[in-house]
Amino acid sequence: VEKVTGSNGDFAVTVRKKARYINEDLCTGCGACAEKCPTTVIDEYDMGLGKRKAIYKYYAQGIPSTFCIDPDHCRTFKGKKCGVCEKICQAKAIDYKQEDKILELNVGAIILATGYDLFDAEKIPEYGYGRLANVVNSMEFERLLSASGPTEGHVEKPSDLRDHELIHKGEKSLKKTTKTLAKYEKKHKKSSAEFYKEFTAGNISDGDEFAKWAEQYESVQEATKKLEELKVKAETFDIATRLAFVQCVGSRDFRFNKYCSSYCCMHTIKEAMMAKDHDARTEAYIFNMDLRTVGKGFEEYKVRGAEQVGLHYVRGRVAEITQDENENPIIWYEETTSQTPKSMTVDLAILAVACEAPKGIEKIAEMVGVELDHNRFFKTDPLNPLDTTTPGIFVCGCAQGPMDIPESVAQASSAASRAAEAVAGKA
Ligand SMILES: Cc1cc2nc3c(=O)[nH]c(=O)nc-3n(C[C@H](O)[C@H](O)[C@H](O)COP(=O)(O)OP(=O)(O)OC[C@H]3O[C@@H](n4cnc5c(N)ncnc54)[C@H](O)[C@@H]3O)c2cc1C
Ligand code: SF4
Ligand code: SF4
Repeated sequence: VEKVTGSNGDFAVTVRKKARYINEDLCTGCGACAEKCPTTVIDEYDMGLGKRKAIYKYYAQGIPSTFCIDPDHCRTFKGKKCGVCEKICQAKAIDYKQEDKILELNVGAIILATGYDLFDAEKIPEYGYGRLANVVNSMEFERLLSASGPTEGHVEKPSDLRDHELIHKGEKSLKKTTKTLAKYEKKHKKSSAEFYKEFTAGNISDGDEFAKWAEQYESVQEATKKLEELKVKAETFDIATRLAFVQCVGSRDFRFNKYCSSYCCMHTIKEAMMAKDHDARTEAYIFNMDLRTVGKGFEEYKVRGAEQVGLHYVRGRVAEITQDENENPIIWYEETTSQTPKSMTVDLAILAVACEAPKGIEKIAEMVGVELDHNRFFKTDPLNPLDTTTPGIFVCGCAQGPMDIPESVAQASSAASRAAEAVAGKA
């Protein structure tokens, strides 16, 4: 949304429909293009833990179920030779020349449903997020746990994923250097090992080409050794089964957000149960000040987690996370029930990061002409909780404040009813 004018019952809204470089009426969503696209990039939807192609679907359940091209990475947009997707697409849906469209809408009411952003855990340096490989945030863990995620639901340690990537890259670069050695070998009709022996014994006269050959040979030897070591290490990799969930990261913390993010206690219990379900060896420790299981059946769910699934609820706020020589996180905490400082080594630490008003919310608030509350969410009327400070503009879900999916969906229905009233001139 780029511009909003007018008032209750009669708003003019200017919307930019971004070019997807695919004709969505023709695209069948078959995915043949993505299969053949040679460009692989980091997948933001998988929180950077997986990869996608330059032609991709933002996420599996997106509507319409259409692909789009990422012009920042696509070879054609970068002026390189490609066009593979255009050749492969039988529906003739690829359109590199598509442009953004500006839509002018006349509407009676507006519902703000812009959701939330995750708290940036790097703001708490003592937890090591962004510095320690095996400390992730709750959304990253959701992706690791998801069957459609980068590890197909196996909770692999990010340090292991990184090493697998290093092996892959190492093998690729080794293949390239080996090809260069083969060229020298063909030209001089001897193996690189033979040449190197003679070269280091001083039996080959100095020359730029020979020096380069020797250098390449040495780098191949070194890279092969490192690769072998990494491969031996990779044989010992296993999925993370000792999990530490750290609650209230950026919530209920006077340095950041004083409020409770309301959904994280429940999603942590859910995630811990799912991890246990994926691998029975899992031991999950949930570090919390208290578990806020507010909702119908929520407390029973928590109790079931402990009694039937074997989750460990540890009362205590985590002070610091460090790591051992194998990159396993060490959780330092005070167990408040016994008032004892303790530490625990785990495979993976998961930070339940706070729900925050999204970046840019001020811009939207100014554009539509509504106020924000002291936590930067859209301000609402206590007696009409979906009404903003401007008639005809309503709000639902986390745009109003932290809440879970059922509550967001219930609010969405209510906001739609309020909008219908506004259109009918009754709100
Ligand atoms: C790790 C994690 C696990 C969770 N698990 C659960 C769970 O199991 N069960 C549960 O009930 N809840 C869970 N939640 C909470 C759940 O994510 C929220 O309740 C829910 O997403 C709120 O929905 P929403 O539509 O208000 O906001 P969002 O899901 O944030 O959706 C807002 C949408 O608006 C889009 N948007 C924002 N600004 C603009 C703009 N200017 N123009 C166009 N589009 C825009 C955003 O891209 C986004 O797609 C979890 C939360 C986290 C962090
Ligand atoms: S043109 Fe772009 S999107 Fe299409 S296959 Fe090539 S790199 Fe991928
Ligand atoms: S829901 Fe739980 S983890 Fe989230 S802020 Fe509230 S108490 Fe902390």
